[in-house]
Amino acid sequence: MEKTYKTVWDECLAFIKDNMTGKENEKAFSTWFEPIVPVKLEGSTLTIQVPSQFFYEWLELNYVGLLKDAIRLALGNQARLQYSIIMDTSISESPLTTSIPSVGHPSTVNRAKDVPVNLNRDGWRELPNPFVLPGIQKMRINSQLSDSYTLHNFIEGECNRLARAAGYALAENPGRTAFNPLMLYGGVGLGKTHLANAIGLKTKELHPEITVLYVTSEQFLQQFADAGRNGTTSDFIHFYEMVDVLIIDDIQFWANKATRTQEAFFHIFNTLHQANKQIIITSDKAPSELQGLESRLVSRLKWGLAAELQAPDVETRMRILHQKLANDGVEMPDDVIEYIAYNINTNVRELEGALISLIAQSSLNHRDITLDLARQMVDKFVKSTNREVTIDYIQKVVCDYFNIPIDSIQSRTRKREIVQARQLTMYFAKKMTKSSLAIIGLQCGNKDHATVLHACKTVANLAETDKQFRFWIEDLEKKFKE
Ligand code: ADP
Ligand code: MG
Repeated sequence: MEKTYKTVWDECLAFIKDNMTGKENEKAFSTWFEPIVPVKLEGSTLTIQVPSQFFYEWLELNYVGLLKDAIRLALGNQARLQYSIIMDTSISESPLTTSIPSVGHPSTVNRAKDVPVNLNRDGWRELPNPFVLPGIQKMRINSQLSDSYTLHNFIEGECNRLARAAGYALAENPGRTAFNPLMLYGGVGLGKTHLANAIGLKTKELHPEITVLYVTSEQFLQQFADAGRNGTTSDFIHFYEMVDVLIIDDIQFWANKATRTQEAFFHIFNTLHQANKQIIITSDKAPSELQGLESRLVSRLKWGLAAELQAPDVETRMRILHQKLANDGVEMPDDVIEYIAYNINTNVRELEGALISLIAQSSLNHRDITLDLARQMVDKFVKSTNREVTIDYIQKVVCDYFNIPIDSIQSRTRKREIVQARQLTMYFAKKMTKSSLAIIGLQCGNKDHATVLHACKTVANLAETDKQFRFWIEDLEKKFKE
């Protein structure tokens, strides 16, 4: 019997499936192979239709060897594979088809003139995403912007003038300025999140029809991981490609990990940028110093404007304090404000923190806000907030304490001492960082959130019932305070 494109593809699928065993692989199979539709066979060239450009690139990146073997097995050594890509109609109304010679000439790209593609996209037009509000046809999404971080209350100073001005210009003309992407960078607590959020709010105010979305890199990573698990990666990508102004906060979070997340973002970035959609990114380092991020992503980040947020000078710090006080309707003697402004000079978050503690102190103890009280408080405050604990740091302390190699946390071993160290790491990470269970799991040997939850409960139980364990916890707690 002569082979048809259908039977050839069935043979390929059978071969691919046989070579993708295990739970993870089965999911990957249904995500990346089941949606493929064979469309024609000419000689020994099989054409398959894939739902998006991203999908095609993903196959090429991850499964090219497997595809090659499969098609050669079915059609012999001279077999070739062509892709027919469904373009996203949210960007171009007419269904374009691109055919890309893959096996043999992976680098050439031809526009196909003649391949009529019947767009059967059941399952591809839905955009399940936590941000989509149900019941609304046209995409309406929750921007995740905070109402309190406005441009109006982002005090201007020498430290942020360029960034603020660029942000304002961009809000007037999103995607149409030279500031695309706009990259806001600077140290902790210098207003990156505030300003990025404020630009988002201003854009919405000036252009109510525009879709703005704010996400942290951590959320993005987590959604991407969830999508992979649920077989909805393609929906995930489509969703992001439909946003007009995309704000991604703290991109340094992906450094030295999240290769696939970066990969996905790279594609989203390109699609948005080509469509003149605006991208705003924040990071704690300048693009050129962002190590551990994919270099082609970093080079994209340099396309637009990188604007630094610096530590505010003392005048700006005073204006910030005055504004916060006015907002809260609290009065404070000038010498106290000056004292705080002069002594807390590293970042604005600490400045605010000091102010709040001072107000709390005075009202709890029914004491006037005096310079003396400010002195005591600032002393304590500056000492206790200087260290930010990271999951990496927690791993290091725990592993050093038990004298085990730090990478054993990442290993699959079930050795008791390692399991214990891993559980303690998870427990402290939950206690001392703001990371979600899922993120903690990801960083502690690629475990899921249920495992982390279980670890936290186990440690808490053992702390109650097991003297030795309680001693370890207390001892470790001391180490973290050192
Ligand atoms: P980052 O994201 O850089 O770590 P944030 O944006 O979270 O910093 O800022 C920390 C705090 O400082 C926020 O409460 C923010 O409102 C405040 N802040 C920072 N810069 C300014 C500014 N120029 N004017 C007013 N408040 C500011
Ligand atoms: Mg921030």
